[in-house]
Amino acid sequence: MKDKMQNIEFKQKLKVYEPKKKVGLVVVITGNGKGKTTSALGMALRATGYNMKVCIIQFIKGDMYSGEFDGIKRLAPNVEIHITGRGFVGIGVSSYSHEEHRANAQDAIRLARDKMTSGEFDLIILDEINNALKLELVDLSQIIELIDNKPPLLHLVFTGRDAHPDVIKMAHTVTEMKDVKHAMSQGIEPQKGIDY
Ligand code: ATP
Ligand code: MG
Repeated sequence: MKDKMQNIEFKQKLKVYEPKKKVGLVVVITGNGKGKTTSALGMALRATGYNMKVCIIQFIKGDMYSGEFDGIKRLAPNVEIHITGRGFVGIGVSSYSHEEHRANAQDAIRLARDKMTSGEFDLIILDEINNALKLELVDLSQIIELIDNKPPLLHLVFTGRDAHPDVIKMAHTVTEMKDVKHAMSQGIEPQKGIDY
């Protein structure tokens, strides 16, 4: 109770900055280092603090459980998550053909377009879409079309390795995660909550 009061008093002292001009940003999080998806999830968390509405669409992923799937549900009704992929493409043995993976990614692009035009969201995160483009599961023209038709105040975030140079050029903010070292290279398995 005392903590709660202190939090309220603390918050009341803080200024909320209002930008003179609101701009819907295109943000790209790319690179080989860890932190791309979790950075995007961090933006989703932050946005809910302003009661903003967030839609997350995960490309490619699909056969491995990751904590955000249920974690995000705790941010409902502000955030929704759609996992559209059929698991890893081109890594090890995939039981799905390239055509099946592509059909899935095409469904995800259609979903992204629908969510974008619905006017319901302030932030849309297309997780691993950079990889989907690299793997030719979606086309560059489809991504350009999304950016070109973005409602002016909507924020659009693209994550994944190997972001396309044209997408980088069109974005407002681009971060490249640098792999300094990763536990995996020391023979440590992926850990719950941190890696997935
Ligand atoms: P995260 O989801 O942890 O933010 P990410 O989105 O940057 O990671 P991805 O390329 O999507 O990275 O890979 C997802 C998984 O691979 C995560 O379990 C992550 O910890 C792991 N990973 C990311 N970068 C590396 C790396 N450089 N070496 C080994 N494993 C990595
Ligand atoms: Mg990722």
